[in-house]
Amino acid sequence: MQRRPSAQLDSGGAPLRSGVLPGDPPTFDLQSHSLHSDGALAPREVVALAVAAGVELLALTDHDTVDGVEEAVQAAAELGIRVVPAVEISAIDSGGRDLHILGYGVDHHDPGFAERLHGYRADRDRRAWAMVDALRELGFALEDDRLRNRADHDQSIGRPHIAEAVVAHPANDARLRAEGRTDSSSFLKGYLIEGRAAFRPRQRPSVAGAIESIHDAGGSAIWAHPFWDISSAAEVLETIDRFRGLGIDGIEGFYTTHTRIQTNLVADHCAELGLLCTGSSDFHGPNHRAFSRFRAFATYGRTPTLGPIRAAARPLAVARP
Ligand SMILES: [Zn+2]
Repeated sequence: MQRRPSAQLDSGGAPLRSGVLPGDPPTFDLQSHSLHSDGALAPREVVALAVAAGVELLALTDHDTVDGVEEAVQAAAELGIRVVPAVEISAIDSGGRDLHILGYGVDHHDPGFAERLHGYRADRDRRAWAMVDALRELGFALEDDRLRNRADHDQSIGRPHIAEAVVAHPANDARLRAEGRTDSSSFLKGYLIEGRAAFRPRQRPSVAGAIESIHDAGGSAIWAHPFWDISSAAEVLETIDRFRGLGIDGIEGFYTTHTRIQTNLVADHCAELGLLCTGSSDFHGPNHRAFSRFRAFATYGRTPTLGPIRAAARPLAVARP
């Protein structure tokens, strides 16, 4: 892909004749995941692929950990791009829904912040094993080794991993066939989403708690991919208003699955409220089913507002021709 000068990052305006919009595909990409959470690659490899794809401003946003940030920052310094120290915190909204709050420009060396993230991961693990127990009580066998292996390597255990551990165990074959849930995603939908028999909620942090942690670590708090988690436009707008009352600094309006209508809705609302409006392709690895390509999102001609996020990128100054 052709590189663009950084100055075009903030250019918005009318569509070009060709239908290609100025600023698309963007040269910033503010979500990516490494082996430190549910990504497939080491931080250094994530940065190298981002560079190859033409990303100039990147954030590594592993779930509930900043353990990969330093490696990403160093790789970025060597490869000539900039990385924003960041994290994606899973937070519990009122009603128990799990929503994601991104923290940008956090001090990833802050021991108090690391301790809080550790506490969140502990709650996440407690919840995962509670769901495993619930599935056993329902009569399912699980390939425990896979889950233990992740836990031993300090990798988070999510519902997809639990569903895979059920589907992979031959003792469940007949029952899964009878129920028509032979693949992990249909099993997850049948048993592990809110309202289903083996679902167990996270208990912490609240959205307000996540925002506070990010602010205390010197960062900006952004609500990630609103339309990935909530489909109703009215509900997204109401939630943005509510989160603004909790101190949110911005919304990820530009996202790989967001439509033009959804993007415009969020960008308009951010402009009205004076919130930042960020974006990402949410890269998880080159073979991921949904999030496999950097810069795979559109601004639809709208202007991203990255505010202090851009200034928080490391290294602080890169000589560019
Ligand atoms: Zn997320």
